[in-house]
This record gives sequence, structure tokens and C-alpha cells, in this order.
Amino acid sequence: MRRIDTDILILGSGGAGLFAALHAQAGAPGLRITVAVKGLLGKCGCTRMVQGGYNVALAQGDSVERHFMDTIEGGKWLSNQDLAWTLVTRAVERIRELENELGCFFDRNPDGTLKQKAFAGQTFDRTVHKGDQTGIEIINRLAEQVWARGIARLEEHRAVEFVMARDGGRLAGVLMIDMRSGEFVFVRAQAVLLATGGGPTMYKYHTPSGDKSCDGMAMALRAGLTLRDMEMVQFHPTGLLAGTHTRMTGTVLEEGLRGAGGYLIGADGERFMQRYDERAERATRDIVSRSMFRELRAGNATPNGGVWLRMDHLGPDSVRQRFKGMVERCADCGFDLAGGQVEVVPTAHYMMGGVMFEADCSTTVPGLFVAGEDAGGVHGANRLGGNGVANSTVFGGIAGEVLAQWVPRNARSVEPDEAQIERAVARCKEPLGRPAGDLEPIREALYELMWRDVGIIRDSEGLLRARDALVEIGAQLDRTGVDGRDLRFNLSWHDWLNLQNLTLVSRAITESALMRENSRGAHFREDFPEPGDLDTSEYMCLSLRDGAFETSRRRVQFTRVKPGQSLLDNTANAAAAADAGTRAGAGGGAGGATASAAPMK
Ligand SMILES: Cc1cc2nc3c(=O)[nH]c(=O)nc-3n(C[C@H](O)[C@H](O)[C@H](O)COP(=O)(O)OP(=O)(O)OC[C@H]3O[C@@H](n4cnc5c(N)ncnc54)[C@H](O)[C@@H]3O)c2cc1C
Repeated sequence: MRRIDTDILILGSGGAGLFAALHAQAGAPGLRITVAVKGLLGKCGCTRMVQGGYNVALAQGDSVERHFMDTIEGGKWLSNQDLAWTLVTRAVERIRELENELGCFFDRNPDGTLKQKAFAGQTFDRTVHKGDQTGIEIINRLAEQVWARGIARLEEHRAVEFVMARDGGRLAGVLMIDMRSGEFVFVRAQAVLLATGGGPTMYKYHTPSGDKSCDGMAMALRAGLTLRDMEMVQFHPTGLLAGTHTRMTGTVLEEGLRGAGGYLIGADGERFMQRYDERAERATRDIVSRSMFRELRAGNATPNGGVWLRMDHLGPDSVRQRFKGMVERCADCGFDLAGGQVEVVPTAHYMMGGVMFEADCSTTVPGLFVAGEDAGGVHGANRLGGNGVANSTVFGGIAGEVLAQWVPRNARSVEPDEAQIERAVARCKEPLGRPAGDLEPIREALYELMWRDVGIIRDSEGLLRARDALVEIGAQLDRTGVDGRDLRFNLSWHDWLNLQNLTLVSRAITESALMRENSRGAHFREDFPEPGDLDTSEYMCLSLRDGAFETSRRRVQFTRVKPGQSLLDNTANAAAAADAGTRAGAGGGAGGATASAAPMK
């Protein structure tokens, strides 16, 4: 087994991983920093796929308080409010950094200010973007900087297990597989950042990149960490339906299309969203996805089982200009988005749940930090479009700063638990010792099960059925072998490992969904359709002990604002008071849209 030593090991090269690498290096240039990634750095993960943009309160009339309130209300009061506050306040400095230090070009208004567009579920147009290819702009600029700064890279290396120190007190490193050779690699590190970006690819229709299979969450579960909000899987309403023969099916057509005034139309030729929500197509993702699912169940479905998205009433030329990337993507699949209609279906997009963490990105395991979509608690029951990339870049940057301080203070010689490494290697090699089987039916069974029973509309009957079926899928996987004669780029082997992780995390989603006997945000129980009492809101937690889940419910701490209150009231009051003071000749603060609102207890 190859062994590598580093000071800081970062798993993943999305917005979280790359920002962490740059900030860690800036904070402690003498430390050895290694980014390990399942694909090629700069070419994989979901940050690169960000289309719509980045939420940040910059414009006149907007405020971090307003962004915060949208985030909390969108999250149905389940968010960790301190994490959400960190998100909205630090997003302001992060977008400046992206522009002024990293060189991103975002779209601008004629007066030179940043152009910010409407995204569903928000009370202000605050989404910064570069056309509909915002993620490519961000990741290209980040990757260039990482390449230029002598940060070590382990590309096409997949992380498989966290390894504790022999004395058990802290993390010692990560076991990885070099996918190019099939060789196991142990990377010893003083500290590790988990930034593998979740990704609900266990659903029949899904948007995330193919390299994502919830590896980090599964590793965290196997390491005994607690995950929260795992029932909260966000479906994006407009996944492209391009047929079963192409992986383009499920890819997302961005939210800005609905924000700009796009229509959703059933097979009967009628718009239907007004029947479900007064905001119609501009309602939040959960409401639109659920409404579409209901239409599909009621038989109002297009030939391939979706609904139509139409933009032509906005003027085909204008649509072509504003949504160039989307129009081209649809054209590649034979559809005319600007002038015709495109079949769409809700598609699994984002996991609000993840590893429990503090605002400094630390976890309960010393030496292990987490950021981005692997981390839970920022978004509560629903992530606002545009808050995902803000989340990964904000917390990735924070993690880098913290790691730069943590490692020098806590550095010591850590020896890994060799027995744990051996057990992990044996687990990964399990399928290689059995006759090769077909993984396709197992994947299809998982896709269908999760879409039907643990998807957009849930009930206890379906969830209990899924609980049993997932055990059976796991057992089927355990019986299925993989041809192990050549381990170089052995994609069947990696597929097997992906499915093992996806099945484990699917079980976590199902258990959490069973626990939550109410309906909030992305989680809708037909047998418990009410949201429950907001004042006594609880979030669901689970961890793995000896192969079984230990579950608990914890009360949400409303550290800044309580249900029924708003930080905007404070802002408005402060502004009014400042205004009154100025009129009385007392001078004083400007009030209004600042990041300085005192926390409400
Ligand atoms: C199509 C699409 C459009 C989106 N549009 C928007 C938008 O407009 N606005 C918005 O705010 N959010 C959007 N999002 C969500 C946004 O992309 C994510 O919230 C965010 O980018 C996640 O960042 P991350 O760094 O946590 O993960 P990612 O960017 O996904 O990076 C994860 C990294 O981990 C690596 N990895 C995975 N497993 C392993 C392993 N076992 N070992 C080593 N490396 C591993 C991956 O290869 C990848 O490099 C979109 C998502 C998708 C899929």
C-alpha cells in the first residue's frame, strides 16, 4: 500500500474544497496541503454545474437580514440559525473575493453594479450570475489558483474510509483508492476536510454529477458521526426528460427560467401551478415539485411522464439571449426551449442534510472538518436556489482559515489504527472475491424505490416498504461480485462501492423520513401533511452503531429569531429610530441594511 504524508488533506475539489485549499494556504503557507478528488480537479463535482447563480445581499434595498429571513423561512424554521447567519453575512465578502481577488466576471448592469436576478422563494432579486454558466466561471478561477500555488493534488483518488489514530483520540488520515491503478493509498494527515458534496444520485431522476455517490456521508456514518436533516432531499422541479437512452435525462433546467416567467403546462395544455400556490411557477422548489408530482399521479403527464416547460410567450429571442446555455443544452437533445416546449420532471437535486458541524466547520471527531453539501444544518428543510454555492464557498473558505490555525496548534505524530485500515481494505475488496454479477438491476431497483417510496410525496406505508427493500438491495449487492482481474479504472468495482454508499445513505434518508411525522419543506408526508408547531420545531439526527441506526430528535434553538418574528422588524425599527434621531439633530447610525443586527434570543 502506498503511503503519503500531508498536513491538511482536503477531500473534494468543488467550491468548498478549492476555497478551503486556497484559504488554508494563505493562512499557513508552510503547511503541506493536498486536495484529493475522485475526478479531475476543476472538472468534476456540482459547483462546476451551477447555472443560476449565487445569493448575496448587495443591492440597494436588500440586506443580510432579508437574506437571512428568506433562508430561515424557506427552511421552515429548521435551520441552525447561527450557521444561516454565517452564510448570509460571509457571502458578502466571499463574492467580493471571487470578483476582486480571483477574477470572476459576473454579469453587470449598465451602471456597472452587479446584476442580480430573481430566484424562486426569495423576496429580493439577489442572485449574482454569469449568464447561466456561473459555476464554470467560479471553478475555473479557483482551479487556476490552486494549480498555480503548489498545492498537491491526488486526482482520480477516491476516499473510502476515515482512519482513526491508534490511540483513538483523533483522526489519523484517510484510506483511498487510486482509481487509475486500483492501488490502495493511505494518506496520513494532521487534519482532514470532508467536502465531497453529498449528491442524491440514488433517485431515478437526479441532477448531480456522476462522480457523486454520497461517499462522504457514508464515510461519516461508518466513522460514527451524527448526521442531521437527512429526510430533506430537494427536488428541482425542472429536470430535463430526454428519454431513457441518455444521461441528459434528469439534468436541471435552471430555476431562473421559472423566475423569468416560464410556464409549466400539463398534458391537457393548461397551466396548473396557480391551483397550488398564488406564486404559481415562482413558488419554492418543494411546492412546485409536489404539485408536478400530483399532476403526474393524476395522469396529466406528457408522453415520457413529465409536464411541459414553455418560455415562448417571453419572446424566443429574449430567451435565447438570457438563457443561452439552457437553450443550447435543450437543442443538443433535440428540443427548442426558446420557441417550443420541453418535457420536464422533478429531479433529485440537493441534500439539505449532512454531517453536524459548528460554524468553524469542526465536527465531533478531532481533526475532521466538514464544509459544503456534506454538511447539514444551514438550510433546514429547504435550500433556496442560489444558497448552495454560497454555502460551499463560504464554509469552504472558513474551513481553510480554521485549518491553517488548527494544524500548527495541534500538530503531533499520529499513527493510524492499522487494524482499521485492514478492515476497510477487506470491505472494499469483498466483491472482487465473488463471481462477477450484474449491477444494473440493483441500481434500477434503488432508483425506482427511492423515487416511488422515499421521494417527493411520502407516507409510512411506503417508507416501511423502502426500509425493508433497502436491506434486500444491500444483501443483493453483498451477493454480487465484480471482475477483479484488472483493477485499473475498474468502473464496475467503483460502481459497486458507489452503490454500497448510496444504499447506506438511502437507509439514513428513509429512517429520518420515518421519524419526521409532519411535513416541512422538501419532506412531505401524505399521512402527516401539517407542518406541526413551529415553536417546538425539532430536527432529526442519526448515527450508525454496529450497523444499526441510533436516532434522536433535537429541539431547534432559535438563537436569532423566533417563529412569528422577523429580523426585518428590527431593521425597520432601527432604521426608523435612526431616521428620527437624524431629524432631531442627534446624528447617529444609518440603520437599515447592515450586517450588524443584534441577535434576537
Ligand atoms: C446542475 C446543478 C445546478 C446547480 N445550480 C446551482 C445554482 O444555480 N446555485 C446554487 O447555489 N447551487 C446550485 N447547485 C448546487 C451546488 O452545485 C452545490 O450546492 C455546491 O456546488 C456543492 O459544492 P461542494 O463543494 O459541497 O460539492 P461539489 O462541488 O459537488 O464537489 C464535490 C467534490 O468531491 C469529489 N468527491 C466525491 N466523492 C469523493 C470521494 N469519495 N473521494 C474524493 N473526492 C470525492 C467530487 O469529485 C467533487 O470534486 C446546483 C447543482 C447542480 C447539480
